[in-house]
Amino acid sequence: MTYLLLSNLSKFYGNTLAVENFNLEVERGEFVSFLGPSGCGKTTTLRMVAGFEVPDQGQIVLEGEDITQLPPNQRMVGMVFQSYALFPNMNVADNVGFGLSVRKMPAEQIRQRVSEILKIVQLEDLQKRYPYQLSGGQQQRVALARALAIRPRVLLLDEPLSALDAKIRVELRAEIRRIQQELKITTIYVTHDQEEALSLSDRIVVMNKGKIEQIGTPFEIYNYPQTEFVASFIGQLNLIPVQVVDREGGLYRIGTHTIQVEQNHRTPLSSQPKLAIRPEEVKLGSVEGWNQLTALVRQISFLGAIVRIWLDVEGVSLLLDVFNERKLELPKVNEKVVISFPHHACWVL
Ligand code: ATP
Repeated sequence: MTYLLLSNLSKFYGNTLAVENFNLEVERGEFVSFLGPSGCGKTTTLRMVAGFEVPDQGQIVLEGEDITQLPPNQRMVGMVFQSYALFPNMNVADNVGFGLSVRKMPAEQIRQRVSEILKIVQLEDLQKRYPYQLSGGQQQRVALARALAIRPRVLLLDEPLSALDAKIRVELRAEIRRIQQELKITTIYVTHDQEEALSLSDRIVVMNKGKIEQIGTPFEIYNYPQTEFVASFIGQLNLIPVQVVDREGGLYRIGTHTIQVEQNHRTPLSSQPKLAIRPEEVKLGSVEGWNQLTALVRQISFLGAIVRIWLDVEGVSLLLDVFNERKLELPKVNEKVVISFPHHACWVL
């Protein structure tokens, strides 16, 4: 049996169709992210799972029980918001124990549960502090602990890290994954940050304009994007206009160069077909048996672990990423270079 089933969910706000025919099966213990640009319907979908919004169409089934119409407090789901939403007049322990006292759990049991969960989020020493005495990262740990304290059937996180600065964000991101795996808690995580989704998730649901574009593991989503939207939304992608020579044979032309593409034919070509290739798949120099192009070096940026080179191929700009190493030899700006990429690493949209 599927642990959590979202079946054909749609939601209107007035005339705006915020979510359209959303279908997803989540396994017990799975970490699923909803990823997409602002306004694509991620939060609305999450809020339907939480019970804060009722879908206009469709069904939500949790452990075999239809919870579509159930009020939020009867669903046993925990939610964490971007804004922490802690009670300012309660200390950490009381914030975390809030859901338990509402459920009339005896005080001693609450104390035990709170201290157990504060240990997991590494806040045991701050039980008596008030939210204003905590950093943003600590406040979000408290919010996470509060959501976990009720032992929710599903943990829902809505952009929980976006209010934090970069370093804390990366630290807390790793913490969230550790805690999720330790407790084996089924989790849905809403984000517009692709790096967060890629690094955290078992599976990612990429959304655009209220609809699902693709569902897959981070590896599948990045390496085998099924639509142009997914391909360009996640990671860097070069798109170079091509002329079709022989579609069946996977032969195309860029200027005077013939390119071979090992591709599937599932997606129909657009009226202006483009070759898609990730910057890290393109190599400097010629490699036997690979596609080759000549290019002009426009700009070189040192980014630390990688060096990004902006090239010009037949008037179209193309990015190439090289891993940094101390003895790296780089071309010069305005130099003409040969670049190569394997047939299996590129595809045509
Ligand atoms: P963001 O990342 O900006 O939070 P999102 O992907 O979570 O975006 P939603 O908040 O789910 O997107 O919004 C989806 C669509 O529904 C948007 O067009 C939004 O303007 C609209 N919408 C959301 N909430 C309401 C509301 N309460 N009333 C009217 N329209 C709404």
